[in-house]
Amino acid sequence: MNLADLTEDEQAILGAVSRFVEERVRGEILRLEQAGEYPQALVDEMKALGLFGLAVPEAFGGLGLRTTVFAAVMEVLARGWTTLAAYVNSHSTVAHAISTYGTAEQKDRFLPGLASGEHRGSLCLTEPGAGSDLQSIRGTARPDGDGYALTASKTYVTNGAKATVMLVLARHPSVADQKPHFSLFLVEKASPGVSVTTTFHKTGFDLVDTVQIEMDAVRLSPDALLGAVEGKGFPQLMEALEIGRIAIAASAVGLAANALSEAKRYAAERVAFGVTIDRHQGVQFRLADMATRLVSARLITREAARVKESGGRCDMISAMAKMQASDEALAIAHAAVVVHGGAGYIRDYTVERLHREALLYTIGEGTNDINRLVIARRMKGEGEMAYLGLLP
Ligand SMILES: Cc1cc2nc3c(=O)[nH]c(=O)nc-3n(C[C@H](O)[C@H](O)[C@H](O)COP(=O)(O)OP(=O)(O)OC[C@H]3O[C@@H](n4cnc5c(N)ncnc54)[C@H](O)[C@@H]3O)c2cc1C
Repeated sequence: MNLADLTEDEQAILGAVSRFVEERVRGEILRLEQAGEYPQALVDEMKALGLFGLAVPEAFGGLGLRTTVFAAVMEVLARGWTTLAAYVNSHSTVAHAISTYGTAEQKDRFLPGLASGEHRGSLCLTEPGAGSDLQSIRGTARPDGDGYALTASKTYVTNGAKATVMLVLARHPSVADQKPHFSLFLVEKASPGVSVTTTFHKTGFDLVDTVQIEMDAVRLSPDALLGAVEGKGFPQLMEALEIGRIAIAASAVGLAANALSEAKRYAAERVAFGVTIDRHQGVQFRLADMATRLVSARLITREAARVKESGGRCDMISAMAKMQASDEALAIAHAAVVVHGGAGYIRDYTVERLHREALLYTIGEGTNDINRLVIARRMKGEGEMAYLGLLP
C-alpha cells in the first residue's frame, strides 16, 4: 500500500511489523520448522507488538486497524513467515465478529484478552460431514434451562489446541414447518464437555495446530449467543468471512512475494551454461510472469480491503480476491520451485515450503470453487455488478 495513504501511527505499526519480520523472524524459520518447535518467543513478541489485536477496537486494547491497513499487516507478516499470519488469521475473524455483533458484556469479556493474546480465538464451522455445505451441519444448541446445551463435532479447527475461546456455528432444533435456523456461539474451551480429540498431520503449516473438537452437551448460558439474537448465525458469519477472505488473500500475496524474492535471488546466483540463470530468457520470462501475477493479486486484494473499509457488504470482491490471490500464489510458488530446479524440492529451500503451504489458501475460507459460487450468485444482482463495471 502507498505509504503516503497511511497515518503516522499506521506507518509506525507497519514499520514495526516489517522490522520484527526481518530482524527477528526470518533467520529463525528453518531451524524452528526443522525442529518442529512451536515459536513461543516469537508469539510473545507478536503479543507485545499488538498483533493479536489487529481487529480489536482501540477502546478494548487492540490496534483497531482499518481493513486496508489490516490487509497490509497480514501481507507483511505472511511474507516473513506464513505460520505467524496463521496464528492471527481466524483469531482476527473471531475478534471482528465479537466487535461487530457482540453485546456490550461479550465485548468486555473477550475483546481485551483477544487483543493481548491472552485469549486465543478459533473458528469452528466445519464438521466431519459438512464443510462447503455449512447448512448441513449437525451441531445443535438445544434449549436447556435459560440457556443451551451444545453438542457438536467440529473439525480442522485452526489453532484449536491453543484456543481459549471458540466461535461456533450451530443449528437450533427444527421446529415443524420452519426452516432450520443457525446461530453463532462463544464457547470457552475450558467449559465442561469440550475436548480436543484429534490433531491432524498436514501437508504444510506444521507449527499451526489443526484439531478436531468435540462438544458434548456443553452447558451455555444465554450470553454465549453472539449478539444475544437467535437465528442470525449465517448473516453474521458471511459478513465476518469477508474479513477472513481478505486476510487469506493478503497472506497469499505475502507468500507469493516471498516466493518471487527467493526465485529472483536464486536465479541471480545459480550458474548454468556459463551464466547465471537469470541471463536465460526462459527464466526471465518466468520471473516476469510471476511479478505480473503478484501485482494483480495484490491489487485485487487491496481493492477488496478498500471496499470493505468503505462500509457495506463486499461478498463478491472479497471472494474474487481470495480466489484470485490464492490461485496466483500457488502458481507463483510453483514457478519459484521450477526456477530452483532440484533445489526447489529440498526442504532447506524456502520455496519448497511455500509451494506446500500455498495449497491451503485455495482451500481455507471456502474452497476456490465455493468462492466462484459466491461470485456467480452475486452476478444475478445489480449492486456489485454495477460497481465492478460488469453491467451492459
Ligand atoms: C489446514 C486446514 C485448516 C482449516 N481451518 C479451519 C478452521 O479454522 N475452521 C473451520 O471451520 N474450518 C477449517 N477448515 C476447513 C475448510 O474450511 C474446509 O475444508 C473447506 O471449506 C472445504 O470443506 P470440506 O473439506 O468439507 O470439503 P467438501 O465440502 O467436501 O468439498 C469437496 C470438494 O467438492 C467441492 N464442492 C462442494 N460443493 C460444491 C458445489 N456446490 N459446487 C462445486 N464444487 C463443490 C469443493 O470445492 C471441494 O473441491 C480448515 C481446513 C484445513 C485443511
